[in-house]
Amino acid sequence: MLELEHLTKRFDAILAVDQISLTVPAGEILALVGPNGAGKTTTVRMLSAILKPTAGKARVAGYDTVTQASDVRCNVGLLTESPGLYMRMSGREYLDFFGEIRGLSVSKRGERIHDLADWFHMSESLDRRLGEYSRGMKQKIALVRALLHEPPVLLLDEPTSTLDPMGARLVRDTILQLRDGQRAIVICTHNLPEAEELADRIAIIRRGRIVELGTPAELKTRLLGFPLLEVRFAPSAANGAAAVVSQFASVEGASTGWVHYRAEQPEQVNPLILRALLEADMPVISLQEVPRSLESVYLRVVAEGM
Ligand code: ATP
Repeated sequence: MLELEHLTKRFDAILAVDQISLTVPAGEILALVGPNGAGKTTTVRMLSAILKPTAGKARVAGYDTVTQASDVRCNVGLLTESPGLYMRMSGREYLDFFGEIRGLSVSKRGERIHDLADWFHMSESLDRRLGEYSRGMKQKIALVRALLHEPPVLLLDEPTSTLDPMGARLVRDTILQLRDGQRAIVICTHNLPEAEELADRIAIIRRGRIVELGTPAELKTRLLGFPLLEVRFAPSAANGAAAVVSQFASVEGASTGWVHYRAEQPEQVNPLILRALLEADMPVISLQEVPRSLESVYLRVVAEGM
């Protein structure tokens, strides 16, 4: 659905995007994360046919972003960090105007505007002027605009940055539903828990280049090592537990009531460990992975380049 081949953008002396190659199939959310100025917005602007690449190319929904720019625009829903809203128009007039540009009939526009405004709890604000909207309301109306023509590709730059917690939850749930509806979705975000929750794959961009790409689990294993697991027992039963666990995995720490170990293939090792502990009369209270955040991965990758 999205194919980038050595996509590059130079602004005079600044190489903003440096030979990015990747694909995003339908039904996948890719998160672009990276420091300020890394090239995320420039990438999205090239994918939405607003900016021409200096070199390389991109196809969006099968269309070339340079030679078939208007087809690309019809197939993309774009939410930018600072959407150009016409402040004297009402929300309804603005959405109707964009629906018409995207080729929707009068009745289809009315139906979509009604349904989306209802979904995002905006119905009561639709007839107010955009100039009177709060920042969060502006972001939601820009998102409604991006979704109006039901595009197969969504490019969402900081989709929840100005929203209150309930609004952000609603937008995140909507993005997941759209993914399940077989959209290809790219989000740019500095909100790493959000990236981790939403994204099937994460691309970490630094100085215009993708320096890491993978699922959150792959990135954690690659940069932080194999999963760390914690087994807990009743304190009275734990004597010698570390010795039992160490027959199957590498023990990283132990104290009264718990043992930490690392396992390359937990699905194979954990049942063996549990059985051995039970046979040694050490009843297990719980066994779980010690949570590791995407933030630790990100900080490691980004700090490396400082
Ligand atoms: P942020 O997280 O701050 O939004 P970003 O990753 O989206 O950053 P970009 O906006 O893509 O970064 O900027 C990448 C680089 O390109 C920066 O050095 C920026 O100054 C430069 N740049 C972006 N747009 C232009 C422009 N129109 N003219 C000149 N330089 C630009």
